[in-house]
Amino acid sequence: MRWSRFFLPTLREDPKDAEAISHKLMVRAGLIRRLGSGAYSYLPLGLRVLHKAIAVVREEMNRAGAQELLLPSMQPVELWKATGRYGLLGEVLIRFTDRTGKEVALGPTHEEVVTDVLKEIRSYKQLPVTVYQIQTKFRDEPRPRGGIIRSKEFLMKDAYSFDAQPEGLDRSYQAMEAAYHRIFSRCGIAVLACEADPGMMGGLASREFMAPSEHGEDLVVRCAACGYAANLEAAACQSAVRSPQSTETPKPMEVVKTPGKHTVEHVSTFLRVPPSKLIKTLLYDVHPSSSLGSSPTAQREGRQEHVAILVRGDHEVNEAKAARVVGSPHLKLSTAQTIERVSGAPLGFTGPVKLARVRLLADQAVMRLVNAVTGANQADAHLVNVNPGRDFTPETVADLRVVTQADACPQCGKPLEFVKAIEVGHVFKLGTKYTEALGAVFQDPAGSSKPMIMGCYGIGINRILAAAVEQHHDAQGIVWPVALAPFQVIVTVMEVEKGEALRVGEEVQEALARAGLDVLLDDREQSPGSKLKDADLVGIPVQVVVGKAWQAERRLEVSVRSTKARSTVTREELVEAVRKHLDMAAPRG
Ligand SMILES: [Zn+2]
Repeated sequence: MRWSRFFLPTLREDPKDAEAISHKLMVRAGLIRRLGSGAYSYLPLGLRVLHKAIAVVREEMNRAGAQELLLPSMQPVELWKATGRYGLLGEVLIRFTDRTGKEVALGPTHEEVVTDVLKEIRSYKQLPVTVYQIQTKFRDEPRPRGGIIRSKEFLMKDAYSFDAQPEGLDRSYQAMEAAYHRIFSRCGIAVLACEADPGMMGGLASREFMAPSEHGEDLVVRCAACGYAANLEAAACQSAVRSPQSTETPKPMEVVKTPGKHTVEHVSTFLRVPPSKLIKTLLYDVHPSSSLGSSPTAQREGRQEHVAILVRGDHEVNEAKAARVVGSPHLKLSTAQTIERVSGAPLGFTGPVKLARVRLLADQAVMRLVNAVTGANQADAHLVNVNPGRDFTPETVADLRVVTQADACPQCGKPLEFVKAIEVGHVFKLGTKYTEALGAVFQDPAGSSKPMIMGCYGIGINRILAAAVEQHHDAQGIVWPVALAPFQVIVTVMEVEKGEALRVGEEVQEALARAGLDVLLDDREQSPGSKLKDADLVGIPVQVVVGKAWQAERRLEVSVRSTKARSTVTREELVEAVRKHLDMAAPRG
């Protein structure tokens, strides 16, 4: 490929709307361009990288025994209604009405569709089956960001396993996990395999593959001592159990006036107690449609119920954990009006003592407080010397808060590290949630009918690119891992106008291409300085320069983008030298 004929527009300036380094560099290196909010075009160079990532993913999926298929993006909403996810996804699900008046959704994921298709399986003899596709997904994200890190339209590899037995699901899941480790390693991306919350997928267990990056939108915790890793939503808190019990003697509870003091900070300063001795009471609405979250009566009447979640003043509620304990994916913070109606006091003065008609859930750390402070359920007043168990009794005590820097590893008790990361992959043990809802059943050896047991496994192909750039760049530009590089070698010809150098460049390109290498020939009539800058910016692993060394002694300059190692070789030595550098740069194993 000749750069003079290649649509590869590079930029010297960062795009104004970009924060993430991958976003800046991918625009500047001519890989992507923004079309609209959360929508990016891949230019030819970007598409070459995307195809490289797809090739690695496809090879490893096939190697793991998964079969490729392709499912439609346009999906009847009836399938989504049958599994209850139509309402759950809400505005994220892009919907429209076709010319016959039927409502159609653009697939944000394909559990429903694949289950419907695999329903044709009738017998245990046809199981297990794992299928996958590489296809565009659509999600109307409220806040697209980071260029291609979070966009409304993105390319995913999604795989689905179907098994007859739970042990079969374990095997299918492990095969996918192993394939994921190979994929990210081949792509040069360091990942943490984290415990995760299954969230809207539902199901039994899940693990996220997180690529550490300072622009990652997720926080994960990890323990260097034992290898524990979890995303913030899933990370367990154990410190309350391990911390010593207070030796204070419980005192009689009292009401104190706290005019206008409605935040933890205000109350803490005003009453001179540390935030860790306050009990925060957060009121949530539980959606009436959730199965366990509300009583049968409330469900029948379609009536909304409320739960109060209690955490220490210096802690935050982990809504994912709370939703799991409540058994509802529909937890929503109550409005100020609701709080006033339910508790009898304005926002900021709610407390667990004599809070009627509300289910009380307390974080385990709250239960260890002695003589705590909390809202009095009346305007401008708090209660002091409140003692859990004596003054109020929660219905449930559980781990309901977000892990903090002060917490220890739940497995070994050593300190935890907090790391920002990009989610590049996710594996779930789904169980029978979808197959039951959609009637995907098979006959077992005894002749009885059973729902197939499912797993699902996603990789964000675009995010492979973003994560690779986040982890492999320097001040000059991108440093592509060999497996993802758009070309393996760039041949830069200085002084193109002199003719002879260009002819040598063309011959060198020809020789490298004959040796099976992907070569970009920079034959543009531009200053040597700007061509070298561009070569560094686009990040091709090996650079060959036809320049001064050629003029002086008929030698070619070879440099390695990642190490900046430079040498000169003769034309005869070039192919060998390039191969050696590519081998050295590729990940081992
Ligand atoms: Zn540990």
